[in-house]
Amino acid sequence: MALNFAKAEFVRAAASQKDFLRDTMPQFAFAGRSNVGKSSVINRLTGRKNLAYVGASPGKTTQINYFRVDGRAYLVDLPGYGYAKVSREEKERWGRLMEAYFQDEAGLITLGVLIVDARHKPTANDQVMHDWFRQTGCPEIVVANKVDKLKKSQVEPALALIRETLELTERDTLVPFSAEKGIGKEELAGLLSAACEN
Ligand code: GDP
Repeated sequence: MALNFAKAEFVRAAASQKDFLRDTMPQFAFAGRSNVGKSSVINRLTGRKNLAYVGASPGKTTQINYFRVDGRAYLVDLPGYGYAKVSREEKERWGRLMEAYFQDEAGLITLGVLIVDARHKPTANDQVMHDWFRQTGCPEIVVANKVDKLKKSQVEPALALIRETLELTERDTLVPFSAEKGIGKEELAGLLSAACEN
């Protein structure tokens, strides 16, 4: 049965490993660089304006936010990366937290959702995050957000550049998306629902 994304609620924020959720529900881990629109994608998916916090001080919060969807799965909002004005201590805190989550012995991640900017070649940091997902062995969906900012003729070449740069394989799915316009919402919701059945 399809996940009802409208039934979404904030569960907790984890700043360290002891606060990670460890029940049997699938965890969909959302990652992306600051300002790529990760909060907006989560808000669009759940049809809620403010479930995930949009904007303000990117990179300021080094925590993992958990949202329960339909009582059946977690959207795991990983802290954004690549924000230039972050202190060294904060970058280190970010690294420790992410490493703890990705390398947890329990294997916490069911599926990775990497959000990139449809307009640009994926950054070195995007590549690192993609490699981390790959190393977990979980399937990954790459969401090319802000596709509304491209002309129609630019979309295919932009997607090809993302595929090529991240060396996406048959196992990886690339979803053109616009959190602003709602493009790709049904496709992403369908893919996550399907992952929930497996
Ligand atoms: P986060 O830091 O990754 O959580 O990014 P936010 O969700 O806060 O979004 C960053 C900025 O990008 C905000 O000004 C959003 O309104 C804007 N934004 C997010 N998604 C889209 C989109 O699909 N299209 C456009 N045009 N703008 C977007």
